Amino acid sequence: MTAPEGIDLVIVVVETSEPGLTGYGCATFTQRASAVHDVVERYLSPLLVGRDVSRIEDLWRLMMANSYWRSGPVLNNAIGGVDMALWDIKGKQAGMPLYQLLGGACRDRVDVYRHADGSTLAEVVANARKLVASGHRYVRCQIGGYGAAGAMTKSANAESSTDGRAIDPVDDRIPIDPRRYMALATEMLHHVRRELGPDVELLHDIHERVPVGELPRFAKGIDDVGLFFLEDPVPPDQAGWLRNIRDASVTPIALGELFTSPEQWLQIIQDRLIDFIRVHISHVGGITPARRLAALCDAYGVRTAWHGPGDCSPFGHAANVHLDFAVPNFGIQEMYQPAPVMDRVFPGVLKVTDGAVYPPDQPGLGIGFDEAAAAEFPPALVPPKWTRTRSPDGTLIWP
Ligand code: MG
Repeated sequence: MTAPEGIDLVIVVVETSEPGLTGYGCATFTQRASAVHDVVERYLSPLLVGRDVSRIEDLWRLMMANSYWRSGPVLNNAIGGVDMALWDIKGKQAGMPLYQLLGGACRDRVDVYRHADGSTLAEVVANARKLVASGHRYVRCQIGGYGAAGAMTKSANAESSTDGRAIDPVDDRIPIDPRRYMALATEMLHHVRRELGPDVELLHDIHERVPVGELPRFAKGIDDVGLFFLEDPVPPDQAGWLRNIRDASVTPIALGELFTSPEQWLQIIQDRLIDFIRVHISHVGGITPARRLAALCDAYGVRTAWHGPGDCSPFGHAANVHLDFAVPNFGIQEMYQPAPVMDRVFPGVLKVTDGAVYPPDQPGLGIGFDEAAAAEFPPALVPPKWTRTRSPDGTLIWP
């Protein structure tokens, strides 16, 4: 576990009997990092040591079956981290970048989107313009943080809200106001479209923070903006509302960063209720299930938009990008900007050039890991604050 940027990351290291042949994977569930660490160390390691690293599919099934009860973010991340490390080893054995093993490149570059945040309209536009000037064709625009219209900063552990309202000192509560959010987000998106013109693809993340019955009206109100997609309008347990949003709006929908089990995505894909699947690859159990999911989506015309936040290690971002190159139904890739320190801990961390990532040329995932450098940045392992959001009357709401 390491936190070079102040975000707890979990890295799985799989060593083999072949000198120098080591695989790395991302098992980052930052909110419960030590629980994932414990599953890997206490249960998966004794289960796997001595087995043949070449049998990835079989080992994935063994890890899933072994706990009898399966899925859920803790177990999936532990398994997903090992699975990624096994694919990393497979690529190193073959002497090929992973996307080559998965069928080769379907495109010359993988376009990424980055986030233009701001607490005012002018700030959002200025930050969006900076991204466009640096070559980005896709920009996600947020005002006042997630789902909050001036009621929450983008900082994960914000000390105060952007409109000056204090955060409760005992509960660290972060007040958010869905009604204000919807009004300001609608105004912001129309404003950004007018300012940036028709050629930039715009995206927006609701972060499941609107009462689901309000979503059809909100989505209809931003249809004219022509969003590339509207991200995570509903939490997984409210997917039944997607039909209502579809009936009211023509804006494409991206969903799934909270998904952890096939039961959550099978029906909505078959019913074509989403346009983009955006699961977090380690949270669904790694590359092995993600490539199956991508193939399922392809059959129904659904494109990929894997989750790529700051609480995902460079190995996780690399897994996203290798799949992005290899699957025909790639849509877009979320990408954050790693701080310079990440290059020291993770040599070869992927770089964005002109709004895109170009094909990695190193074998496997293509990222190194300096364990001594990682040890300089111990994880905090404390309960997060940003998942304690409350509405103005004090009601806890899903983050
Ligand atoms: Mg999101």
